[in-house]
Amino acid sequence: MILPAEARHDRDGPRNRGRGQGGRLVKFGWVLPGRGAARGVSGFARLVPRWQPAIIRSCLPVPGDAGSLREMSELRHECGIVAVYHWLGDEVSPLVPGGDPNSASRLVPRMLIDIQNRGQLAAGFTTFNQERNQLIDTHKEVGSVAEVFHLNRQEAYEKLMREYAGHAAIGHVRYATCGKDDRSYAQPFERHHIEKGKWFSFAFNGQLANYPELRDEILSRTEFHLARENDTEILMHSICLELKGDRHPGIVEMLRDLSQKFDGAYNIVFLNAVGDMFVARDPLGIRPLCWAKEGPLFAAASESVALSNLGFSAESIQSLPPGHVISIQNGEFQISRFAETPRPAHCFFEWIYFANVASTLDGRNVYLSRAALGKKLALRETVPLDSETIVVPVPDTAKAAAAAMAFELGLPCLEGLMRNRYVGRTFIEGKNRADKARTKYTPVPEVMRNKRVLLVEDTIVRSTTMRALIRQLKSRGGAREVHVRVACPPIVAPCFYGIDMSTVKELFAPRFMPDGRLTPEVEEAMARELGADSLKYLRIEDLAECVDKPPETLCQACVDGNYPTPAGTRLYQLAIENDRCGAESTGLERTYDVSATVRPAASACDSGNAEAAPSIPAVTGGEAKSR
Ligand code: SF4
Repeated sequence: MILPAEARHDRDGPRNRGRGQGGRLVKFGWVLPGRGAARGVSGFARLVPRWQPAIIRSCLPVPGDAGSLREMSELRHECGIVAVYHWLGDEVSPLVPGGDPNSASRLVPRMLIDIQNRGQLAAGFTTFNQERNQLIDTHKEVGSVAEVFHLNRQEAYEKLMREYAGHAAIGHVRYATCGKDDRSYAQPFERHHIEKGKWFSFAFNGQLANYPELRDEILSRTEFHLARENDTEILMHSICLELKGDRHPGIVEMLRDLSQKFDGAYNIVFLNAVGDMFVARDPLGIRPLCWAKEGPLFAAASESVALSNLGFSAESIQSLPPGHVISIQNGEFQISRFAETPRPAHCFFEWIYFANVASTLDGRNVYLSRAALGKKLALRETVPLDSETIVVPVPDTAKAAAAAMAFELGLPCLEGLMRNRYVGRTFIEGKNRADKARTKYTPVPEVMRNKRVLLVEDTIVRSTTMRALIRQLKSRGGAREVHVRVACPPIVAPCFYGIDMSTVKELFAPRFMPDGRLTPEVEEAMARELGADSLKYLRIEDLAECVDKPPETLCQACVDGNYPTPAGTRLYQLAIENDRCGAESTGLERTYDVSATVRPAASACDSGNAEAAPSIPAVTGGEAKSR
């Protein structure tokens, strides 16, 4: 790889049906890195990997902070992206404040607020204004969207919006999964250049799964150096490479080249100093990306809710197909395919856990998907359904599933557990799991005392909060029985496409399912471990139906071990090997980390147990499948 000179940078029927119902301004030359994810095998993938993960580690909790971050919220997204573009002319969109096209940039904070479920650590935007000396300019900072854009201080907000006024803008939110609360990880990344077409800013949502190979390719040249350890910097350098010298590739050509190098999830928003913009979705469409255009206003966002809340009609909002890019060059709007899609691999977790319940992604509403999960759980229910039985959701994302399950069973769905929305990432979370659960959740004894509680949770990843929570439902809430119902199959494998779970060791389910089978006995063992009276999971077979998608169009790797990309499969093999050899000694190291630091020990493990070559367990709702 040659960098450009300028780049040196699971049923018993329901019973008793029908009873109750229950600031700092940052201007760069081009320094700011973040993180991200991909497909494709190219020259990069042919390299022998020198697993050097620190990059990805840098985007995950550091050991000292990991407990507090992970236990309070078991899964975290990486990022969310938005883009807005208002054509200059006589027509002005009624959705733009003040009737001024250059106020389109003011829409970015509003859009970011709507997708803040995807990132609360940092936020930022880059705007374009040809009347400004800084043709494109970036403001980003660590903090919530409200903090970064001064949404509680009108004067400061107005000053910021005036300074960054522009008819084109991109924005980004980033989650608190990174090792450091460091502004330098915030996006967008702006890279300055004297040539306007090469002066650009971009932000992305995802993770490059073949990051180590990409990084090693760059570092194999002694004259090259990476200032940051994350895949966002790799992406930036890769764009620079495409733009180097006198080459002026079209956007489709550039993305086609990049898609040959990248393996993983990578949705990108891009803006340059000419005022050209593009919004691209990776070839597998792992992460969602929605867009709308009405009159002179175009906007795109990770989730549809950001567009509908702006005022776009439901008919206007669409999902960008995988492998496609929307480009606006010289004012010309175009949708093009830049890469073939061997198969879509939409992340099922977006519908059942991550996305805003009001969003519709790839034609399927999130709320309806979660309600379908609840109905499926109801079909598996076996406990006595009497007047002492209630359904309680673990706030907040399990509410839709819990309500639908309760309706099907004819049980009341009650808020017996209240969540403190204002704790956030504060030191008052406490020093141990019980403290943290007590701080974040408050059982309501007036609702739960002497009740048989069906506690509906959207997923169990690491289980640490769940154990403490069940104890408190009984000790503080007075619940007679707690039966855990999980609106998701067991998480048995890591994610390498942008979700904060990258080792086998950290996961709750795998040690109970060595052969990949989920049986009633396995669920009983899990319930005992959690201190619950019983536990039932959703079956894998029910997932696709609940999200109303053919199973072959979904990524379900974290519940079935079948990764949609080569790098994901390689990393899973490595994660299994690391877990088998005890390499993930603390459960805090990422697969990438351990691969770099403990591989010699893993090799020793291999030599003493040669027949135990790592294999990927096949996960089923009952019978083990051969693969
Ligand atoms: S591994 Fe799981 S969380 Fe990650 S993209 Fe696939 S379905 Fe989503």
